[in-house]
Amino acid sequence: MIYCNLTLTSSHGAVYSFQVSDVVKGKEGAFRKQVVYNVYTNEEEFDIKCSCRLFEFKGIICRHICKVLLEKNVKDVPSRYILPRWRKDIKRMHTYVLNCYDDPQNTEEKLRYNKLCSHFSKAAELGAESNDKYVFLMKYVDEAIEKLMDNTTCKEKLTPMLSEVTNVPQ
Ligand SMILES: [Zn+2]
Repeated sequence: MIYCNLTLTSSHGAVYSFQVSDVVKGKEGAFRKQVVYNVYTNEEEFDIKCSCRLFEFKGIICRHICKVLLEKNVKDVPSRYILPRWRKDIKRMHTYVLNCYDDPQNTEEKLRYNKLCSHFSKAAELGAESNDKYVFLMKYVDEAIEKLMDNTTCKEKLTPMLSEVTNVPQ
């Protein structure tokens, strides 16, 4: 990051654009060249993008975005830029994959998980068929996630959701 130099190129309300020049190694590290990347930030929507697209390709925030966050004195990286696989506070879903050493007490939860996965992949196949179906499914799943995350949700609150669905796209 010491090679990154920052220039503010434009600002409109909560939207800022920066140019970050960086020195990158050429092939075999023999030579270095200067490359300029564009970083776009929208403070209202907590949106940050860099033209190097490291986050889109590898799920890791690039040093150009870090440089901008430092410059803007942002101490906490927006949570959506830290993928679940890098987080320590998220339960690892692969622990649900059954193996022969499993404690039988956990097996019931894993079986439920596996059944859900096969069901979801069928739903995803159908949901991908059209934009209407996609929007319908996403909305439904989001609503379900919200209810499931709410630990105070009791059994009665979970059941009516199924009957609320009326207009299934054709
Ligand atoms: Zn970048």
